[in-house]
Formats: sequence, structure tokens, C-alpha cells
Amino acid sequence: LVEIHNVHKSYGGVEVLKGIDLTVQPGEVVAVLGASGSGKSTLLRTINHLETVDRGSVTVDGELIGYEQRNGKLYELREKAVLERRTQIGIVFQNFNLFPHLTALENVTEAPIALGRLSKDDARELVLGLLDRVGLADKAGHYPRQLSGGQQQRVAIARALALKPKVILFDEPTSALDPELVGEVLDVIRDLAQLGTTLIIVTHEIGFAREVADRVVFVDAGRIIEQGPPSEVLVAPRHPRVQEFLAKVL
Ligand code: ATP
Ligand code: MG
Repeated sequence: LVEIHNVHKSYGGVEVLKGIDLTVQPGEVVAVLGASGSGKSTLLRTINHLETVDRGSVTVDGELIGYEQRNGKLYELREKAVLERRTQIGIVFQNFNLFPHLTALENVTEAPIALGRLSKDDARELVLGLLDRVGLADKAGHYPRQLSGGQQQRVAIARALALKPKVILFDEPTSALDPELVGEVLDVIRDLAQLGTTLIIVTHEIGFAREVADRVVFVDAGRIIEQGPPSEVLVAPRHPRVQEFLAKVL
């Protein structure tokens, strides 16, 4: 479903992604692990074209993200076309990134209405269903500042679902939360996984990765150095860097 092929990305001459190849099957849940600065967030941001790539390509369901191919060359799409294709991909950030001046309901309806996908009335109905799914049916009229971190993050997940994406990316979705709020967000992500949603999750929650992920991918200095089922990578890692990392976090 998601095919990442030979993606390279540099900032100011420093190569942060050094040729990432990753294929994610429909319904698969992939946990991405790695030390701080290894390139995990950059990888997620290139997948939905919040960052351009220097080399390589990303396709979702056979459709190139951010670029079109002409005469064997890749050309960046114009903004509207980028946005249109990006709707295939939901993303949830560490810091929720909700619009502070919009209610929970408006945060979730904003994109589908702006893209002309739904009328206001239809969007409202859809979104009330989504808020119900993340356990926030009674908070539709609340502004972000009136919600806890865990509730804000659940609104952000509902927002990511509103465009019916084929894959959802999570970038450390619980690391900005107080410990007692982590569980409610992980519960929602676990439900998505059980419903067969394709997920790519950057996380430091090793226990959660072991429980929910079909595959763990370990990124080190811009490369995938090890991957496999959690029962292998998290229990008996082969690469010394992975062993070292797990010894520190477990
Ligand atoms: P963390 O676990 O701390 O979130 P990460 O694995 O997500 O780390 P990235 O945020 O992808 O790491 O960053 C990888 C490297 O790229 C870091 O050295 C970072 O400083 C650099 N970097 C990321 N974004 C930019 C940017 N916009 N401009 C310049 N350098 C950047
Ligand atoms: Mg990061």
C-alpha cells in the first residue's frame, strides 16, 4: 500500500535520510523506533510530502505523493494537487497541532469542507460519529484549551480520520502527554489497528509496539538497520545499535 523507495533527504548538506526503502502492506501496523535525531520524524514528513525528497519516491496505493512523473523524471506537483493526494495520508503529531480558535468539531470538519468533500451538514454528521469513536461525543463544542492533552490528541486522531485516509502516520503521539493520559490515546490507536487500518507509528512506547505492531523498523542515522516482527527485533535484536538502544529504554 505504501512504497517508500530509496528516499534521501538532506538539510544544509547534512544527509538525514540515506536511502530508505520500506513497503507497508494494507492493514499492516509498522512501529518505527530509533534514537533521537536518527531521522524518524523526517521520514514521516517525507511520506506525506511535508518535506521534499532529494532522491527516491513515495507512493500510496500506486499514486506518487508530491510528484508526478513525466518522461521518466519526477516533477513536484503544484500545491493544490499535493493537498489532494496528501488526503490519502493522515498524520498525527506529538503536539496535537489543533487550531486553537476552532472547536473540536470544527477542527475535524475543517479539511473535508475546505476540500469540498462534504457539505457543512454532512460533515457535521460524519464528525460527530468520529468524535464518538474516539470517546469525545460530548466535547464537540469545546475548544482545544478546554480539553486535556489526551482529549486534544484524540481530536487530532478524529481529524486525521475525517478524510478517510488509506494510511495514518503517528509521530510520537503520546510523548507530550502526562503519563496518566497515555493509555486513552493508545487505546484509540489500538482500536484503529484492530479495525485493520494501515498505520506507521513512531513511538518510544516499546510495550505498545510489541503488542500492536506487526513489524518493527529500527532507524539509525538515516538508515533502516533492522526490521522484523516485534518478537524478534524487540526480544532478540541482531544489530548492536538496536541492542544498545533497547538496553537503554527497557
Ligand atoms: P526525535 O526522536 O528527537 O524526534 P527524529 O528521529 O525524529 O528525532 P528528526 O527530527 O527526523 O529526528 O531529525 C533528524 C536530523 O535532521 C536531526 O539531526 C535534526 O536536527 C535534523 N533536522 C530535522 N529537521 C530539520 C530542518 N527542518 N532543518 C534542519 N535540520 C533538520
Ligand atoms: Mg521526531
